Amino acid sequence: MSTILIIEDEKSIVDLISFNLKREGYEILSAFDGGAGLELALSGRADLVLLDVMLPVMDGFEVLRRLRQTSDIPVIMVTAREEETDKIFGLETGADDYITKPFSVKELAARIKANIRRTAARQGGEKSAPGTYGPFKLDKALQSVTKNGRALELTQREYDILCYFLDRPSQVVSREELMENVWGYDYYGDLRAVDVAMRRLREKLEDDPADPKHLMTKRGAGYYMQV
Ligand code: CA
Repeated sequence: MSTILIIEDEKSIVDLISFNLKREGYEILSAFDGGAGLELALSGRADLVLLDVMLPVMDGFEVLRRLRQTSDIPVIMVTAREEETDKIFGLETGADDYITKPFSVKELAARIKANIRRTAARQGGEKSAPGTYGPFKLDKALQSVTKNGRALELTQREYDILCYFLDRPSQVVSREELMENVWGYDYYGDLRAVDVAMRRLREKLEDDPADPKHLMTKRGAGYYMQV
């Protein structure tokens, strides 16, 4: 059974979400401000955090920033406005996912399930020997990547994307396919997230991101990787 930590200052929302998630079999923890929420998130008692952006004491972005210094617990940001969503895309926030208010409980439950499933798959992933792909070397046990012997600092999502491409050499992958398989939704989320993630990944993988040699764009079709 998974435990969800809800950090949200509107008690009616907390009640509604916890009522529904309990029915789905989840344990619920809750905090009504950013400070208390951060403390609970760091306690290791939750498996996933549902984090509101607008919070008293410390806003959701600050909670996430501090949490990410020591924890890789999956976090779904809850945004109320379009500009907050833009901020999630525009900043290296470290959020695994986001959902915009108002959302249906069904949609929320689907997101939670996808994020927990992805984390479980990562943790139970096979401990295979490091794989070499051109200049890139992947150690799947350590989830580390080097390029020409130099370690690359990838986020979990970037690592997952890279693995997806390396498993499909030179195959063109559409944004929808990436969204469905890497983000893990049963429906299409916001495809801008794919473009932003690809741009960041390119900045890390390529010597010259403006003239990529590995992570290539196929106009109107998607992306492919060559090593
Ligand atoms: Ca709020």
